[in-house]
Amino acid sequence: MAAEVRLVPCLSDNYAVLVRDPASGAVAVIDVPEEGAVIAALEAAKWKPTHILVTHKHADHIQGIPALKARYGAKVIGPRAEASQIPTLDVQVAEPDTVEVGGLRAKIFDTPGHTAGHICYWFEQEKLLFAADTLFALGCGRAIEKPAAVLWDSLLKLRQLPDDTVVYCGHEYTLTNARFSLTVDPNNAALKARAAAVEKTRAAGKPTIPSTLGEEKATNPFLRADDPAIAEAVGMKGAAPAAVFTEIRERKNSFKG
Ligand SMILES: [Zn+2]
Repeated sequence: MAAEVRLVPCLSDNYAVLVRDPASGAVAVIDVPEEGAVIAALEAAKWKPTHILVTHKHADHIQGIPALKARYGAKVIGPRAEASQIPTLDVQVAEPDTVEVGGLRAKIFDTPGHTAGHICYWFEQEKLLFAADTLFALGCGRAIEKPAAVLWDSLLKLRQLPDDTVVYCGHEYTLTNARFSLTVDPNNAALKARAAAVEKTRAAGKPTIPSTLGEEKATNPFLRADDPAIAEAVGMKGAAPAAVFTEIRERKNSFKG
């Protein structure tokens, strides 16, 4: 039986995700931006969390953990490299570890860039990727703690996964990302169609999450920095992909969408 998944909007633009293994009843919460919305979603579903999977140390991903841990006693799993900054961790993981949630199993990817210790969780059987602030729908996280070239390598790691992988990211930034993407990949028909769909989805107040990795590969410029069309559009024909990636990441930092 496939995993059951619930998206939980938190704070102003964050997402937590609930993943349940129907066979065992085990439930994982991926990141806890706040306890209120997450507890409400768990209570509404009548689910009890057994695991909390943490992607990185930023407060808007971990600040609800103590309340959840106290209420449910869930086991908290997260990045070894950031363990000293995530005091609630019970289990420290890094690539190539795996994590089990009942009968579900996730592989860990080290994806440095946004933070040095950021990890992603890939449930291969269920075709689910929890990419948090590494890969966004039509975007990627800011390269805060590592050079953009390091983040590019992390994104290449995720890009190897199958097209039908369902991607959950940590924020609803898709509308601004779509508008920015059109500035660096203006002739991409798939991107234009997706951007129009995103405008409608957000105008209706609905989440744009999840997407598929196939969609991201076709339309997300941060996964396409090695496409000659993008290099040309940003005036860097023939440049190394990591340099093109760095340029578009810097342009996005100052983009007012
Ligand atoms: Zn973050």
